[in-house]
Amino acid sequence: MDNVYDTIIIGGGPAGLSAAIYAARGKMNTLLFEKGRLGGQISITDELANYPGFFSENHEELHPKYLIEKMENQAKYFGANIEFKEIASVKLDSKIKEVTTTDGTVYKTKTVIVTTGAEPRKLGTKGEREYTGKGISYCGTCDADFFTDLEVFCIGGGDTSVEEAIYIARFARKVTLVVRKDYLRCANSIEEKAKNNPKIEIKFRTELLEVKGDGMIQSAIFKNNETNEEWEYKADEEDGLFGVFIFVGYNPVSKLFDGMLDMEDGFIIAGEDMKTNVDGVFVAGDLRPKLAKQVVTACSDGALAALSAEKYIEYSFG
Ligand code: NAP
Repeated sequence: MDNVYDTIIIGGGPAGLSAAIYAARGKMNTLLFEKGRLGGQISITDELANYPGFFSENHEELHPKYLIEKMENQAKYFGANIEFKEIASVKLDSKIKEVTTTDGTVYKTKTVIVTTGAEPRKLGTKGEREYTGKGISYCGTCDADFFTDLEVFCIGGGDTSVEEAIYIARFARKVTLVVRKDYLRCANSIEEKAKNNPKIEIKFRTELLEVKGDGMIQSAIFKNNETNEEWEYKADEEDGLFGVFIFVGYNPVSKLFDGMLDMEDGFIIAGEDMKTNVDGVFVAGDLRPKLAKQVVTACSDGALAALSAEKYIEYSFG
């Protein structure tokens, strides 16, 4: 069969790159699509401390870009093709599947491995969209530097919010963690670090209602959800602005597969073999409901998806 790939991988984070390495090394004709930059969510962090074997006492060398680069080179070395294009639609219901990119090109493939991951969840607060990039951010590593010596609010009480608050506190004058419950939902070790950081204050039972300003955020309205009392925080006159970082979880990027693949709250369901409900379609990484969304588990998923795809081709195409 001419011009039919063995597998097309959609998404170039750790799960997708790992799938590409395993598929290409297994002599599968492999094409990976990435719409932005390779690395997925780890490309917006500055340090990766717990990926086995990727270690250095020099923190600079723990930047995820080095791991991503190695994974990319490894996939290409074994023969994987990587294209930077966005997918417009997929057709999965026939034995030979079709993946169409936004430039209208149709690619044919025997299997599809979906590794589109997740993206930061929006809060839905008044002014959030208008002030994104003008005081509102979803990435501490990308934007903390911008708020050097300024005040910052971090919304959310999970691991991401608390870890990011600690990171941002290296730059900001003060960081206030705004948590809607009366407890943090993060690892004890991280909680202890935050509570011992003199630059970090935690406001429980508090929600952000609105952000306002003249170009940049200069005011925010908060509410205590126990007493219903509302209060306004205004930027210090000398500062003229402050930052609001939103870390309230992640949404799966699965819209492309609505109505085609079985999902649970947008996460695509698969077992240990990464098989979805559609023959020849596999899923890997943060897009799958799982206990721990980590680089190491994403890579493991990617490897399993590629091995399952290889087996599927053997049985279904001979
Ligand atoms: P998460 O665990 O889902 O926590 C989200 C936080 O945002 C919770 O405090 C939640 O409050 C709050 N929240 C959600 N919607 C909100 C809203 N509309 N208004 C106000 N607050 C809202 O998300 P995450 O921290 O991004 O972590 C995601 C996964 O990655 C977790 O499994 C986490 O353990 C893992 N992770 C691990 C590490 C690590 O091990 N070092 C680091 C980062 C992430 P409620 O509790 O009230 O829902």
